[in-house]
Amino acid sequence: MSDRSITVVGAGIVGASIAYHAARAGAAVTLVDAGRPGGGVTANSFAWIGASGVHRGPAAALRSRAIDEYHRLEGELPDLPVTWSGSLTWGLTDAAPEAGPGQELVDAAAVARLEPNVRRPPEWAIWVPGDGAVDPVGVTGRLVEGARAHGAEVHSNMPVTAVPRDGTVVVLAAGVATAALAAPLGVHVPVGPSPATLTRFSAPEGLVNTVVNTADFDLRQVAPDRLVAAADSPERTLAAIRSTFRGAETVDLLGSRTAARPMPVDGEPIVGPVAGVPGLYVAVLHSAITLAPAVGRLVARELLDGTAEPLLAGCRLDRFGG
Ligand SMILES: Cc1cc2nc3c(=O)[nH]c(=O)nc-3n(C[C@H](O)[C@H](O)[C@H](O)COP(=O)(O)OP(=O)(O)OC[C@H]3O[C@@H](n4cnc5c(N)ncnc54)[C@H](O)[C@@H]3O)c2cc1C
Repeated sequence: MSDRSITVVGAGIVGASIAYHAARAGAAVTLVDAGRPGGGVTANSFAWIGASGVHRGPAAALRSRAIDEYHRLEGELPDLPVTWSGSLTWGLTDAAPEAGPGQELVDAAAVARLEPNVRRPPEWAIWVPGDGAVDPVGVTGRLVEGARAHGAEVHSNMPVTAVPRDGTVVVLAAGVATAALAAPLGVHVPVGPSPATLTRFSAPEGLVNTVVNTADFDLRQVAPDRLVAAADSPERTLAAIRSTFRGAETVDLLGSRTAARPMPVDGEPIVGPVAGVPGLYVAVLHSAITLAPAVGRLVARELLDGTAEPLLAGCRLDRFGG
């Protein structure tokens, strides 16, 4: 597929990244969203950039590039709202976990140095110094601005109701809506909604320093007076925060939202051209906050240069057959 004119359907972090990279590479890009950019599941993401633990699966090589691709993007888009705090994970297994690439196995003293407010530092934790987190709506906005600066047209509040089958290059990056948009073309994209809950809490300044991942929650401080957590029950999470951190007695629940993550049936990204429908390309994936910069750059290359990027080789729709 190689065309200089590209329509991207969906301005979540995935579509915005594809639009930005394609426009930057010289394509005439039109980016269309049913609502506002970043207003889909991206707006309710915990937004941890963390890919170090996954060493297997078809997208392992793609994940291994995720952090470097964020650093590259930061160089291209100054003031990208990314925080490189590192992440600490403990309590997910009974035995001492094994450290993978980019990870360090640390003891209780190290945990206490990294998170001084933890009441009972665990005996072991996995410390990933290279991990970070983003303001996901902020990053999406910067990508959209970047696309515009390279000549892209951006349309908000414009739902696409039908995808043309006339060879126009169209990228479906509509998250959970991708399957419904592809179906009338006779294309089955096996992705469904996977609900996850993001909860906001008031908090004292400096309570949590890193991205903390335990059996109770994924937790991070997003502002001096604010924490967010990805966890099932807001009330149980509040109790767990208060019991885990010294000085957390005043932490309070501000609100929570459950959003539908686009989840391919095998959990792996679906990214690539669609056989049998000239011009059609899909990009739908989980952990898309982490992977968006890498996916955006590689998809733009495939669309504009007609290459088949090896890092996307395990992500094709045709792995599902049919
Ligand atoms: C609680 C929670 C925690 C998470 N934590 C993490 C994490 O720590 N790290 C991580 O990497 N990922 C995380 N995720 C997953 C991540 O948020 C998603 O993978 C990512 O936001 C998906 O982006 P997207 O652009 O594909 O989807 P979306 O943001 O949903 O974007 C799709 C866009 O398409 C638009 N659209 C839909 N239909 C149409 C149409 N017909 N016409 C035009 N536009 C249309 C929508 O309006 C929307 O803006 C988390 C998700 C949740 C809910």
